[in-house]
Amino acid sequence: MNLDMIKEYKELSVFLLKTLHGAASGDRAAGNSLGALCESLQQAADASQIKRIHKQAKEIVRKEKPVDVNLLLKNIKLLKSSLLAQSDVENDLRLLVDEFKQLVTLALHQVEALSLQEQDSRALFLECREGLSELSSVDDMSRYVDKFKRLFSNNLLFDDETGRERDELKKIITILADSLSGLLQSGGDFDSGLDECVGRLQQAKTLSEVQEIRESLLLQAQGLQTRTRQMVADVRLAQTQVDDANKKIESLKEQMEKVKQEIIIDPLTRTYNRRAYDEKIKQEIMGFQRYSRPTALAIIDIDHFKNVNDTYGHRTGDGVLRVLSEVMKKEIREIDVLARYGGEEFALILPHTSLEQAFDVAERIRQKVEISRFTYKGKPFSVTVSIGVGSLKVDDTLDSYVERVDQAMYRAKNGGRNRVEGEVN
Ligand code: GH3
Ligand code: MG
Ligand code: MG
Repeated sequence: MNLDMIKEYKELSVFLLKTLHGAASGDRAAGNSLGALCESLQQAADASQIKRIHKQAKEIVRKEKPVDVNLLLKNIKLLKSSLLAQSDVENDLRLLVDEFKQLVTLALHQVEALSLQEQDSRALFLECREGLSELSSVDDMSRYVDKFKRLFSNNLLFDDETGRERDELKKIITILADSLSGLLQSGGDFDSGLDECVGRLQQAKTLSEVQEIRESLLLQAQGLQTRTRQMVADVRLAQTQVDDANKKIESLKEQMEKVKQEIIIDPLTRTYNRRAYDEKIKQEIMGFQRYSRPTALAIIDIDHFKNVNDTYGHRTGDGVLRVLSEVMKKEIREIDVLARYGGEEFALILPHTSLEQAFDVAERIRQKVEISRFTYKGKPFSVTVSIGVGSLKVDDTLDSYVERVDQAMYRAKNGGRNRVEGEVN
């Protein structure tokens, strides 16, 4: 009798644990733990083992529904004391009844919300619950075993296939919802729709509810996809427009820079033009007057340049002007200003430079020009320059300054050309 009962209780307890397992499988950890308990219960050989397993099951369920479990524990205490009062029941069996009741109560508790929708199950559920509160002996228990069994097996929700399908759907939908909410940085209609779906999903009890939520999510996701595509297209278009605008701005900047350069640069020799020279020499005179900053000037004139044009042609003459400009540029500093002053005449402004230093620069230029070689139809030729140098004096005007340097240049011409002459007085 005792062993038979244990066997019977075990069977039922396993069944109940399976039921709990089914109910908790939405929570994977709880589901796994209950599944494991179910297996150990099948191995259990006596009441104390069943009791231990029951305790663990209680722990798992307590984590899920703390308030309900407290209430449950209170009822169990009451039942326990009334059972213990019955002296005709063997201690072991009394414990079994107790465990059985607690387990069934827990299971009923879990099942309650799920089963009440089904008419048949509802009636059976109420019957079982009522029976449970009156249950006080092993005989009562065995009468109810069948009812409990029927209740749980009637409950469609605990059908394995359906449960698995529902769980799969839940999983899929949760993943979908997660990824969608990840997609959504900003709020909006969909966000609140998504929240609502997640909330409904947590409450969902039947497969059809879950399916409905899935459909609603899918619809929202499709809407989002369309909007996202449109947004991506809009962003791409805007990006293209921005790129185009940037290109235009860049090209305008380049053009402006060119125009700026053209205003001050001589197109043939790429040295500064007369306009730039006029501006720079005025700045030098001002700097000298204000800060006593020394400054020097050289005027460089190509010797017999008319002959070059006459002998080799005007185009070759242009080429010579270009090359000589490069030769001269190499001999000067960044702050020096080489400008095309007239046709074949250059002015070189030398800031922070004394007369002696200016003379040295001029002499270096003269030498470099002299050794430069040109060819016309395979025949080599060379040119020379005559240079006059001078430095700015306290009572100079622009005219007196330039005039003095010009005079020096003419003296170089008159002195035989290909030479440098410094100012006098
Ligand atoms: P000097 O030694 O006395 O300076 O003799 P020059 O022949 O150099 O002097 P002149 O003033 O008699 O002649 C200057 C020549 O420079 C006349 C002109 O044809 C030439 N010239 C001026 N500008 C240009 C130019 O842009 N290209 C070319 N090819 N020749 C130019
Ligand atoms: Mg000349
Ligand atoms: Mg000249």
